[in-house]
Amino acid sequence: MIIPKDHPRYESLILREKIIEGFRKGIVVEAGLIAHGRGEALDYLLGEKTHEQAVKAIEAGAALLLLAERPVITVNGNTCALSAKELVELANACGAKIEVNLFYRSEERAKKIAEVLKENGAEEVYYVPEAELDNLSSERRKVSMATIESDVVFVALEDGDRTKALVEKGKKVVAIDLNPLSRTAREATVTIVDNIVRALPILIKKIEEFKKKDRKKLEEILKNFNNEENLRIMEKILRRGIREIEL
Ligand code: ATP
Ligand code: MG
Repeated sequence: MIIPKDHPRYESLILREKIIEGFRKGIVVEAGLIAHGRGEALDYLLGEKTHEQAVKAIEAGAALLLLAERPVITVNGNTCALSAKELVELANACGAKIEVNLFYRSEERAKKIAEVLKENGAEEVYYVPEAELDNLSSERRKVSMATIESDVVFVALEDGDRTKALVEKGKKVVAIDLNPLSRTAREATVTIVDNIVRALPILIKKIEEFKKKDRKKLEEILKNFNNEENLRIMEKILRRGIREIEL
């Protein structure tokens, strides 16, 4: 489909096309199409822009990923369809492993996602389950050793159950989620309320920039960040978005 560049909803329509293409390739599942729609609705209300609060969360996330000893980036169908290249760049920037982790798991789909990530420059992608999280019953419990051994896990468009399970296992979680009210948003250590396609390039840039800082400075950035407060402000911005549409 050809989307005219001057269409007022050009960016949003391009993302839809990416998700549809991912669905046709067998990377995205039907439920993924619906999850994307929920994200679209929230993004609409947030003004489809990266708010100052999101940048603060991105900075805290960058600090946490750089302070990590064994970070891991987990990828699902939607995130692969939307941001494969940037997810690989993120992993390279902070020296993280990459794992494919799916709610609607099939070994075939996990392999396809790993292939797309490799086409985008990933050297190694862990997509074969090697262990299980014993405090989670969904298919997302099946993880690689990369997750078991990790100290910091990056997730996006994640299910709240898994975020909670990871935190219970002592991991710190950096999440990108457009919904400041979701369980993932509330359970994560650092929640970036923004669209993954806008947030990832900024996160990568901040990591490159923060590499010049010493550990103490990074710890300070993290200490000065309050996730609950950040979420409260993002929720307010969301409510304001609803009011403005009503006017
Ligand atoms: P939770 O399980 O955390 O309570 P949920 O069950 O409401 O959340 P899920 O379907 O598990 O939702 O997770 C998908 C999440 O990803 C939703 O909160 C949705 O708003 C968000 N999302 C969808 N598209 C994007 C996107 N492009 N960028 C960031 N977040 C997105
Ligand atoms: Mg969920």
